[in-house]
Amino acid sequence: MSELDRLFAANQAYVGRHAALAESRPQRHLAVVTCMDTRIDPLAVLGLQLGEAHVIRNAGARVTDDVLRSLALSSHALGVDTVVVMQHTNCGVAGTSDEELRRRTGADIDFHAIADHTTALREDIERLAGAAYLNLVQEMAGVLFDVDSGAITDVVRWERT
Ligand code: ZN
Repeated sequence: MSELDRLFAANQAYVGRHAALAESRPQRHLAVVTCMDTRIDPLAVLGLQLGEAHVIRNAGARVTDDVLRSLALSSHALGVDTVVVMQHTNCGVAGTSDEELRRRTGADIDFHAIADHTTALREDIERLAGAAYLNLVQEMAGVLFDVDSGAITDVVRWERT
């Protein structure tokens, strides 16, 4: 069975136990931006249930233009007022450079490589705070998830004053 066939077979089993949610708005008014890394279960890490938060994932949990696009909709259309940016230890885009990632992939694009998590989280929270259209966001945190212990470290906080 191919990988894709396994997915379709699994879905047939899932349909029987699927519980449809009536509401698409995040019930905790929360959006979590995190990395695509397979070792992160964002809902479990933060004690969240399905339906309670938007989870926006990309390589490195960086605040890219597309993350801004999603958060503009999260906040204005779907009631999100709190944002958590969660980077993690042993991340593939940390401890490297955009030049190195361009060389490895052949893609001449911005990879948002992370030299230092504290600096990167501060920059990303600043970028969010500086987006005039995210005016409905009241509170943000930049945190670092330890993939070994499961603990998060509070790195930067922001609150609208
Ligand atoms: Zn990562």
